[in-house]
Amino acid sequence: MKPGMINRTIEFIKTLYKDEEFVPLHAPRFWGHEKKYTADCIDSTFVSSVGKFVDEFEKKCAAYCGAKYAVAAVNGTAALHMALVLKGIGVGDGVITQPLSFVATANAIHYTGAQPVFVDVDRDTMSLSPDKLEQFLKTEVVLQQGVACHKLSGLKLRACIVMHTLGHPGRVVELRKICDLWGLVLIEDAAESMGSFLSGRHVGTFGTMGVLSFNGNKIITTGGGGMLLFNDEALARQAKHLTTTAKIPHPWEYAHDAVGYNYRMPNLNAALGLAQLEQLDKFLVSKRVVAETYKQFFVKEDVEFVCEPIDAASNYWLNAIILKDRGERDAFLEATNKAKVMTRPLWKLLNTLNPYQRSFKTNLDNAQWLEDRVVNIPSSVAR
Ligand SMILES: *Cc1c(COP(=O)(O)O)cnc(C)c1O
Repeated sequence: MKPGMINRTIEFIKTLYKDEEFVPLHAPRFWGHEKKYTADCIDSTFVSSVGKFVDEFEKKCAAYCGAKYAVAAVNGTAALHMALVLKGIGVGDGVITQPLSFVATANAIHYTGAQPVFVDVDRDTMSLSPDKLEQFLKTEVVLQQGVACHKLSGLKLRACIVMHTLGHPGRVVELRKICDLWGLVLIEDAAESMGSFLSGRHVGTFGTMGVLSFNGNKIITTGGGGMLLFNDEALARQAKHLTTTAKIPHPWEYAHDAVGYNYRMPNLNAALGLAQLEQLDKFLVSKRVVAETYKQFFVKEDVEFVCEPIDAASNYWLNAIILKDRGERDAFLEATNKAKVMTRPLWKLLNTLNPYQRSFKTNLDNAQWLEDRVVNIPSSVAR
């Protein structure tokens, strides 16, 4: 890196986010009707598992994303778990995913009793690589009566979860084709990518199911929350049923026809979400401006800035730069965090975490390359 690059970056970020003594990675902004809608919700007394805000939030999210149906959940992790439950995935099954993700992706697989199988990402999208997936399937998997069997472990590979890393759309069109050929259900972990589009279509709508998160650090928040996106009505109806304890409607009986889950988003959170959703387009404009400003700054510094893939409109949830090696990365992390400018590396690869060290995996060189070099920099909507 050029001499003084880190200090100039710190100064630059402090001018971007002027009034913040400590500059966080991603702070929520409550500049709309958040107080009004949550107060209305409290006044109605329906703050919990029933109420009009949840239904309205589901409808508006579905419309925004161009999905036929949306089912709200208590958080993104629960929504991912539910997506796998809906397809009956469990013990003896394998679910392909990328090693470069937040731990929730692998945990959701583990909750079902299935095992994650890690396949490498592409360097440019940082998301699951269709080429690596195809290579893995052709060499290590056989189709037996329409089921993809992993030769080494005997696992039945039933699904594939792609994660749209940092909000940038992954190569879902190619992934969908491969998954269809091999009988794999494609699930999109779009937790980070509300407001991101590929060829004009919102991410999370290319696979059989998509999952959004509204955790406090995401582009819009409900405090905690998640959403399942569907185009299939039967799946959506079953999702609603299973996330609400699988209760059969009845005036007074507690009758449940399956092992259900208490995964429903409370009405109070949905009220907050409605106010946030109203501002999403404004947030997206601001985030593009911030990304463009960073891009111009880092060009002059000879530092690679992560841009949206071709044909994609990314929400630029977290801006990122790619440094030369792990040493540069650590020096950058050290100095910026000391100067009260919050920066973070990517996640440690999931296959290196204690619970997933024995999981099956392909060569993961691209994921490792990215882990060693990528740093996330402050990305809140600018004031
Ligand atoms: C945030 C996130 C989730 C789920 O988050 P919740 O906090 O449970 O809402 C899942 N996957 C990825 C990649 C995420 O970034």
